[in-house]
Parts: sequence; C-alpha cells; structure tokens
Amino acid sequence: MSNWKQKLASFMYGRYGTDALGYALLILYILLDVVYIFTHRLIFSLISSALLVFMIFRMFSRNCARRRLENERFLKLWNPVWVWVKLQYHRVRDCRTSVYRKCPHCKAVLKLPRRRGKHTVCCPRCAQRFETRVLF
Ligand SMILES: [Zn+2]
Repeated sequence: MSNWKQKLASFMYGRYGTDALGYALLILYILLDVVYIFTHRLIFSLISSALLVFMIFRMFSRNCARRRLENERFLKLWNPVWVWVKLQYHRVRDCRTSVYRKCPHCKAVLKLPRRRGKHTVCCPRCAQRFETRVLF
C-alpha cells in the first residue's frame, strides 16, 4: 500500500465513512448547486453548502451508532419512494406487453399479460381471486 493510502486509512480509522444518506446528500447538493447556477438565488447556494458540510461531518464522525440511526431513518423514508419510482419505470418499459394491477386484498402489485377484456386473477401472494378489466 502506498504512503498516502496508509495515511488516509489511519485517518479514517474509527470514522463513519459513506452510506446511502451520504450519497443522497451529495446528489441533493449537486442538484441544488445546479439550480443555483441557473437561478442565482442565494438560498439554494446556502442550502447546498449546508448539505455539503453535513455530509462531510457525517463522513468523518466517530459517533457511528448515531450516523447508522440517521441512515436507517433515511432509508425508512426513501425505500417506499424508490419502490414507487421502480414500479413507474417498469410500467412504462412493459406498457406494450403487460399491465400492473393492485390486489384489493393484500395490496400486492401484480404484473399481468396485456390481454383485452375482463379477467379473474388469482393473487400469488394471498391466493384470493379478484376481477380486473384491461381496456386496451
Ligand atoms: Zn393478494
């Protein structure tokens, strides 16, 4: 290992480093900076700078338990958003061949073949049957 790598490793020893919240802060920082470049509103620059400071503070923090808890709280909020975004992407990608329907009993989202008409669907998760209609 080269000298600077050893120095960095010993500096980072016991420090928190990066996680999903860290990456989210970085992306938000970049987005707000881009908004600032186009709008020249000082508030965007101030918020993005505060996010950068918070991100760096978290990276070098030695209070790993607290940082992990922050990340868990962030993921609890972020994961449903990410699941929704992925579902919308799949809906658009598969719109010619499939339709997505929510099971009225267990709320699972099912991918069904796109066949016009009225169908009875058996949910693979809860094994309940429900009627659905594919219009076009
Ligand atoms: Zn179901």
